[in-house]
Amino acid sequence: MSSQPQNESQRVPSSDAGTDERTLYDHTSDDEGYDGRPSGELDERDHDILDSEDERERLLTQKDAGKGLLGRRASSVKVGKWDKKKEMKERRKGGNEESSALMYEMEEGIGASSTSFRSGRSSLSDEQRLPASESQRKVCRVYGCASEANGPQVRRKSLYRRIAIYVSIIVLFVVLLAATYNLSTPKDVKEAAAMLSNGTSLFAPTTILISLDGFRADFLYRNLTPTLNQFVAEGISPKYMMPSFPSVTFPNHYTMATGMYPEAHGVVGNTFWDPELEQEFYYTDPKRSLQPHWWGGEPLWVTAEKQGVRTAVHMWPGSEAHILNQEIAYIDKYNGSEVLPTKVDRIMELLDLPGPKDIGASANTPRPQLIAAYVPDVDGDGHRFGPNSTEIRKTIANADTMMAGILAGLHARNLTDIVNVIVVSDHGMATTDKTRLIQLEDLIDPAELSHTDGWPLYGLRPKDPASLHRLYNQLLERTKDNPNLDVYLRDENMPERYHFSKNDRIAPLWIVPKTGWAIVTKDEFNVEVGLKTGEEYHPKGLHGYDHEHPLMRAVFIARGPAFPHEAGSRMEPFRKLMFSSHRTYIHKRSKLTPPAQRT
Ligand SMILES: [Zn+2]
Repeated sequence: MSSQPQNESQRVPSSDAGTDERTLYDHTSDDEGYDGRPSGELDERDHDILDSEDERERLLTQKDAGKGLLGRRASSVKVGKWDKKKEMKERRKGGNEESSALMYEMEEGIGASSTSFRSGRSSLSDEQRLPASESQRKVCRVYGCASEANGPQVRRKSLYRRIAIYVSIIVLFVVLLAATYNLSTPKDVKEAAAMLSNGTSLFAPTTILISLDGFRADFLYRNLTPTLNQFVAEGISPKYMMPSFPSVTFPNHYTMATGMYPEAHGVVGNTFWDPELEQEFYYTDPKRSLQPHWWGGEPLWVTAEKQGVRTAVHMWPGSEAHILNQEIAYIDKYNGSEVLPTKVDRIMELLDLPGPKDIGASANTPRPQLIAAYVPDVDGDGHRFGPNSTEIRKTIANADTMMAGILAGLHARNLTDIVNVIVVSDHGMATTDKTRLIQLEDLIDPAELSHTDGWPLYGLRPKDPASLHRLYNQLLERTKDNPNLDVYLRDENMPERYHFSKNDRIAPLWIVPKTGWAIVTKDEFNVEVGLKTGEEYHPKGLHGYDHEHPLMRAVFIARGPAFPHEAGSRMEPFRKLMFSSHRTYIHKRSKLTPPAQRT
């Protein structure tokens, strides 16, 4: 037993869950295909992509702006050039000459220049035109012109024509001013430039984020997931994504949504006590988990909606908590018994809503640009049957079939290259066994504790705060011959890499079992009796352990226009916090302001 954090280089995957380990290390062929590109290089590439997206958007905007102005200028150009061309017009060369002149302007880049330049240029040509008329009159006085020769009636006609020209010029200025005003607020133009068409509708940048709860990284290597494997081959993925500590569902889903460590966003476990509020958070009890005060930071769906990116959240942990009092376009309440095909139908139903430029578009039922969906099935059966069971194979295959349904739905709508799809999971799963149990009562008297947090880890809050060090030393003493758990004091020796100390919601004393081990109270399972009678221990699978353990590894796979990497690109494994880089991307594309710097 060790109470000190192990040295990074010394830490090796423990062999406490043999079958899982073998599964993990059997797929070496994948390692051979991994190009090992450093993450720094990828970041550079991402910057380039973002820069080029900006550039493209700017060019598109200018082009559209030019078109918009030329469209309005079509008549104005005629008036502006009227004087120069009136002789040509009289020679009936007007129409074709006019378009040629316009094309010349466009080739020269005049149409794409700034509006102020266009206005100035227009004024200049008018000023040039007036002296030209004056000099023309002088020429007539000297040599005589046809109009002069025809007397006062013709002069009157000429006067009317001149008045008409001046009126036209004034109209031209008004039109140009209106065009300039419109271009100074080019929201629609920019929005349209950022949209992609599937042939029937314009789609603003759209992303589907799907979380397969408890989908361990190596589940992809069991020949059960043709769709997800194809998705890996077409998209970009690290070999795995590392969860945050503790590797349980609520802290990790909220870490993905906020880009913050659990100690920073405040959802530090599935169950925990807040000493200040004197309340317990309990994940499966909405009355004890859906008040906004539990949920710190700003989740992705709030950031998106605040910036006008309409969002649908389907059962994602925390989404029903009215965080920061932000209304979200669609919140689907948690329903653990919902079948997977219904999730596919729901996502397609959201995509089929009229887009902002479509007939029938409604602010009350907008087509969401961000759809975050939660799938609990693999986690549920992982706990129930264990990650190496026959039963979990079917559940993994069903999750893959659901993904096939989503991708087929996108294909049928010609959205494969338009909508981004990201598949993630929150943690892995380890097999439990009655031979890997630790009886809590053997280590500490529960009567000395006011609260216990977490599971399978145990966070302990002594009734008497002054007894903390005594209880810690007692735990060290009683487990000195047991290498299957670690004991930590939150404020003294909690491993730095856990980022699990800077919050009062984290209990002051922790027992952290090694992966595959479980701590049980006698109420739950009497270890001595169970070993004698051969009683089975449930659950068959657990997670929550050291987030760096291979059995806790999660997945991240992405494909779509936001990820224009080569098909099958691999990136270095990363920790959940890096997930927030996608937030940055969405911010960029949707003109969202980035969230405040977080610790
Ligand atoms: Zn989970």
